[in-house]
Amino acid sequence: MRNEQQISTSVLVIGTGGSGLRAAIELAEAGTDVLAVGKRPRHDAHTALAAGGINAALGTMDAEDSWQQHAADTIKESYFLADPRTVQVVAEGAARGIEDLERYGMNFARETDGRISQRFFGAHKFRRTAFAGDYTGLEIQRTLI
Ligand SMILES: Cc1cc2nc3c(=O)[nH]c(=O)nc-3n(C[C@H](O)[C@H](O)[C@H](O)COP(=O)(O)OP(=O)(O)OC[C@H]3O[C@@H](n4cnc5c(N)ncnc54)[C@H](O)[C@@H]3O)c2cc1C
Repeated sequence: MRNEQQISTSVLVIGTGGSGLRAAIELAEAGTDVLAVGKRPRHDAHTALAAGGINAALGTMDAEDSWQQHAADTIKESYFLADPRTVQVVAEGAARGIEDLERYGMNFARETDGRISQRFFGAHKFRRTAFAGDYTGLEIQRTLI
């Protein structure tokens, strides 16, 4: 027996990890009709496995941090293989990414005064990794869903 259903949408997002879900939210907030489709259960994406945290030069722990330093650390640690323009887009936009996740309700680890906690991770000059315990990716996935 055929069991078909037709659905129409303006934009079809294929893949429901962090990038697909985030893109779908951006479109929906702009008033565009969007459908996000994944091939696995909704919590099953690489995004949900990320444990260490998410990098952004918020300067909550080390005020001298900057997106330029984040970009420089990233390019150096890539042994100069990373595309500088892509690194700039990611490093410069990272703080907005965190702000958006906060707005969607993500439970970041915080200091007692309410600041988002940041810790060292990878090849950073400053503490730059925001996190949610050791389940940051799972919390990102939950928040975006
Ligand atoms: C164990 C682990 C730890 C990590 N730790 C960190 C960390 O601490 N910090 C950090 O920044 N990054 C970390 N990463 C990397 C980070 O998780 C990924 O770079 C990021 O989640 C990628 O997101 P994505 O949306 O592009 O891909 P994914 O999360 O992989 O999402 C892709 C989605 O597309 C779906 N899909 C694929 N093909 C199809 C298809 N044909 N049709 C429909 N759906 C499809 C998949 O099922 C999946 O749901 C880690 C990764 C792993 C695996």
